[in-house]
Amino acid sequence: MTNQDLLAAVKEYGSPLYIYDAAMMESQYNRLVNAFKDVKHIKVNYAVKALSNMSVLKLLHSFGAGMDTVSIQEVKLALTAGIPPEMIIYTPNGVSLEEIEKAVTLGVQINIDNLSILEQFGTKYPKIPVCIRINPHVMAGGNTNISVGHIDSKFGISIHQMPHIQRIVDNTGMHINGIHMHTGSDILDIDVFLYASEILFDAATHFKDLEFIDFGSGFKVPYKTGDIETNVEEFGEKLSKRFNTFCDNYGKELTLAFEPGKFLVSESGKFLAKVNVVKQTTSTVFAQIDSGFNHLIRPMLYGSQHEIINISNPDGKERFYSVVGYICETDTFANNRRINEISEGDILSFHNAGAYCFTMSSNYNSRYRPAEVLWYQGKPHLIQKRETFEDLVKNQVQIEL
Ligand SMILES: *Cc1c(COP(=O)(O)O)cnc(C)c1O
Repeated sequence: MTNQDLLAAVKEYGSPLYIYDAAMMESQYNRLVNAFKDVKHIKVNYAVKALSNMSVLKLLHSFGAGMDTVSIQEVKLALTAGIPPEMIIYTPNGVSLEEIEKAVTLGVQINIDNLSILEQFGTKYPKIPVCIRINPHVMAGGNTNISVGHIDSKFGISIHQMPHIQRIVDNTGMHINGIHMHTGSDILDIDVFLYASEILFDAATHFKDLEFIDFGSGFKVPYKTGDIETNVEEFGEKLSKRFNTFCDNYGKELTLAFEPGKFLVSESGKFLAKVNVVKQTTSTVFAQIDSGFNHLIRPMLYGSQHEIINISNPDGKERFYSVVGYICETDTFANNRRINEISEGDILSFHNAGAYCFTMSSNYNSRYRPAEVLWYQGKPHLIQKRETFEDLVKNQVQIEL
C-alpha cells in the first residue's frame, strides 16, 4: 500500500478509515509457521479479538489458521465466516457454565480456566474433551497491564493447584486433550518464555491423552524504531527442539499450538485520519484530527506509541506536534512528536493499527465507528461500512413522557 493508495482509499471511503494489508498478514503467518518447520504438527489459531472482521478471519483461515475465541459471539463470528468448528478453540475467562455449554453444542474445542467450572463441566460431560488453561506464574514482559501469567492474575488455573486438577480429572473421568498457557503480551525474553514452557511440559506429563499443547501468545511486534521485537526464528528453533524431545518422551507426536493476535495483524493495519485544525498555543502546536479514543484508544489506555506519518506531505519539513482528537475528553495520540509539516486537511497515517484498534472502538460522543478496508491483491475492498445515524439509534427506546 503506497501513500497514494492510502489517500485514494480515504477519498473513496471517507475519513477516518482503517485499512489492512492482506499480504502483510500472510507473510507474518508464514514467518511464524516457518519458524516451527521442525515440528510435525503446528497449529496457529488466530486470536479473533485482535481484529474480528469476518473477511479477516476468512483470509487468515485461507492461509491455514484456526481461530482462538474468547466469547460465544466470537465463536459465532468464526463459524459465520466459514471456519469449521474443529478449527476453533474457545478460551474464555470467567464465563458461565451455560455459555460453555453453548460452545459445546457449536462443536468447538473448550478450554477451561478455573477449577469450579472444570469440576461442574467434568461431572456433567465426562466424555467431551477439554483443554486446561494453566497459569505458570511467569511474567514475560514488565507491564502489569498486559502480563497475565503473574501471581495476582485472574487468568488460568494456578500451577500450584495441579493436585486439585488431577483429583477432579480422576474423580470425573473427564478427558483432557490439551493443555494451555497464555503468559502475557510480550515475549521480550525468549528464555523467560522457555522457562514458562518447562512448567507447562511438566504439567502435561500428568495427562495421558493429550493431543496438543497450546503456548498462547506473547509475540512482540515493533511499534516504533528501536523497539525490541520477538526473534521468532530463534524462538521457533529453541522451542521446537524442546517440544520434539518432550513428544519423544511422552510417546506421541502432539500438536504445538499458538494463538497470536498482534503478531499476525498489528503491522498490517493503518489508521487514517484527517487533520481538522492546526492550533498554535503558547506551549505547543496541536494537530487535531477527526477522531479520538472512540476510534483508537491504545495510546490513552496502554500508553502505546503508534508511529504517525503525514502521508499528504511526506517530504515536508519536520516539526513538533501534539496530535489530539476531537472528542470532549483528553485524547492525546502523541505528545511532542516530530512529523512532516502539517496543514489542515492533511491525512495522518497511524501505524500498527491492525490489532486492538477497531475492535476497541466505541460510539463515545455519539460518533460513528469508522469504515474498514482490506487491501487484497492490489485493490481495496470495503469490509465494514462506516456507521450511520440509524446504527446509533437503532437500539434506543424513547419512552413517552
Ligand atoms: C488476547 C489473547 C491472545 C492474543 O494475544 P496477542 O498479544 O494479541 O498475540 C492469545 N490468547 C488468549 C487466551 C488471549 O486472550
